[in-house]
Amino acid sequence: MNLDSPIENFSNIGPQYLKRLKKLNIRTIGDLFFHLPSRYENFGKPIKIKDTQIGNNITIEGEIQKIENITTFKKRMLLTQALVKDTTGVIRVVWFNQPYLIQNLKKGDKVSLAGKLNISDAGPFLSNPSYEKIIKNKTLWHTQGIVPIYPETKGVSSRWLRFILWNLLRKYYFKIQEFLPEEILVSQKLPPRNKALFSCHFPKTLQEAKVAKKRLVFEELFLLELKILIEKRNLKKEKAPKIKIKKSSMEKISKSIPFKLTQDQKTALKEIMMDLTKESPMSRLLEGEVGSGKTVIAAIASFLVIENGYQVAIMAPTEILAEQHFKEISKLFNNLDFNIGLLTSSLSIKKNKARQNKIKKQELINETQEGKINLLIGTHSLIQEKITFKNLALVIIDEQHRFGVKQRASLCQKSNNASKQITIPHFLSMTATPIPRSLALSFYGDLDISQIRQLPRGRKKITTKIIGPIYENETLNFIEKEIKSGRQAFIVCPIIEESKKLEVSALKSEYEKIKNKFKNFSVGMLHGKMKPKEKEKIMKDFKEGKIDILVSTPVIEVGIDVPNATVIVIKGAERFGLAQLYQLRGRVGRGKFEGYCFLMTDSPSKITWRRLKAIEKAKNSFELAEKDLKIRGPGDFLGERQWGLPDFLMASLDDISLLEEVKKEAQKILEKDPELKNYPELKENLKKFSQKIHLE
Ligand code: ADP
Ligand code: MG
Repeated sequence: MNLDSPIENFSNIGPQYLKRLKKLNIRTIGDLFFHLPSRYENFGKPIKIKDTQIGNNITIEGEIQKIENITTFKKRMLLTQALVKDTTGVIRVVWFNQPYLIQNLKKGDKVSLAGKLNISDAGPFLSNPSYEKIIKNKTLWHTQGIVPIYPETKGVSSRWLRFILWNLLRKYYFKIQEFLPEEILVSQKLPPRNKALFSCHFPKTLQEAKVAKKRLVFEELFLLELKILIEKRNLKKEKAPKIKIKKSSMEKISKSIPFKLTQDQKTALKEIMMDLTKESPMSRLLEGEVGSGKTVIAAIASFLVIENGYQVAIMAPTEILAEQHFKEISKLFNNLDFNIGLLTSSLSIKKNKARQNKIKKQELINETQEGKINLLIGTHSLIQEKITFKNLALVIIDEQHRFGVKQRASLCQKSNNASKQITIPHFLSMTATPIPRSLALSFYGDLDISQIRQLPRGRKKITTKIIGPIYENETLNFIEKEIKSGRQAFIVCPIIEESKKLEVSALKSEYEKIKNKFKNFSVGMLHGKMKPKEKEKIMKDFKEGKIDILVSTPVIEVGIDVPNATVIVIKGAERFGLAQLYQLRGRVGRGKFEGYCFLMTDSPSKITWRRLKAIEKAKNSFELAEKDLKIRGPGDFLGERQWGLPDFLMASLDDISLLEEVKKEAQKILEKDPELKNYPELKENLKKFSQKIHLE
């Protein structure tokens, strides 16, 4: 047996449970061991019945004198009622809706019970306690000391997990192999792996549980960090085309840009230029909210690369965004003598200084292959069409987290450069999602990061109001006024975490309502369940002004630019992450007109209002992202469990000092032993880890 042994091999786990565990993605005994408690109940030591006090959580031991099921007349509730006695007294015990208990607990049984002592008309009673029989030589798992509580899941109770884990962990304790280097255990004061796992499930004290958990988090982060560092190191060994940056080129591009770069843009550009002039491939993430001016930076970098005689590819997640990039960059390059191509599933366009025209897809592909197209912008089509470039030196991906690693790799394929040297292109990834520093460290650690925090000056002010539902009509009247003067509006309905179906139906009824109210205007609807083609069509119509009001879930395309939209109403604002609200708000006030954002909430809670107020004050979305990470955890940033990392690890990702410790240790080990030759167990575990997770 080792931690990879499938759970089928263990006779304690019956077929019914095998199925239920698989639903929880528990396939191996290791998965089961790493199904960690979400919290603990501290039941303490048993006390005598005479010492119990109403209102307290207590544990007692005694003998069942009587046990029966009864139905209350008043509320028609099914109760199991028992009398339990010890040497000092008798106590009444009540369980709700668990009639099967009398099959298990009989008169004369000695039991240990833990729960709260309440009082009713019939006197004091121990309410719904955890219970277990006291049997010789059997440890009490459920009612005494610190008891693990596991994440709620149908059919796999904490009771069952305690039973199975207690047995298996003890049986296979010495089969749980250590893989962290001894020196790290010492320097970080971490318990060995088997001890940590056991303590995490069955700690004697909460402090012991905490140390155990830290060790388990540490090992996963350590593997993550090693993976990232090794990938980074391997990338450094690769060669990339070295870009020379001539003064004349800089002057030329400066002239064609109609504004001054912001300080953050300048810094980001400088960092990118430094990378490009090196011989090893750039691997950089450019972060900046919508409208902060990332595309311009991408365009300048592209220009510099093209001036060196190389090609550039830009890939966007949707057709509209690809088109938006194409238009924006074409405009900037209008006076420059380049061939720019746009390739999506429905479009293939070529533009040069003289003219812009549709060409056959195959023609565009051929010209790219021959090196005649200097800059090719597109969607997934760039990968699907298996395009080859003559001398691709820079790949730029917009909103990269929507693309898989494989796709990225397929665009960054190696090629021969002019001197027949094998190179891979430089890589720049752009995102409008603010990523807190700790998450960036752990998830994008193989990328260097540039941030644009400030927006270009001249952005219109956005008036933000937090309003209760009674102001809904006024808000709609305001929208009407704006539309009548030619503007457009967004109405965003909340994410309903419980169910996508509920979300869509709530959206539909809002849409109907708005359509009824605005009979003379055109109202569109957008949600995540629609086909990509439908979504694109709606977004396009909105962008072109064919739709006046867009009612949508928060799927509104990241990065979409509709300067004519001036109002955004966000319903159920308390359900959104702060950074997300900030970004949504940024959809308006992007053109010549002032913007208005209404954060609608029916939550009377002070905390909600304070959170929402933070939006008004915030300087940028990065600040809010850090705040949200603390309040709401990393889920908002990383999306639905797409990384393959365990939940307990995800929950620890706001601990920046731990992350930095881990990074330090990982660097030390790799410096000492770059190939991990002296750490075979670590190497083996790293390999497994890499197969398991899928960072993008
Ligand atoms: P992003 O790609 O980050 O969403 P863009 O590069 O598309 O942002 O820029 C948004 C708009 O702001 C564009 O119209 C662009 O021309 C303009 N812009 C970018 N940088 C500046 C700047 N420094 N000063 C003025 N306008 C700018
Ligand atoms: Mg953009």
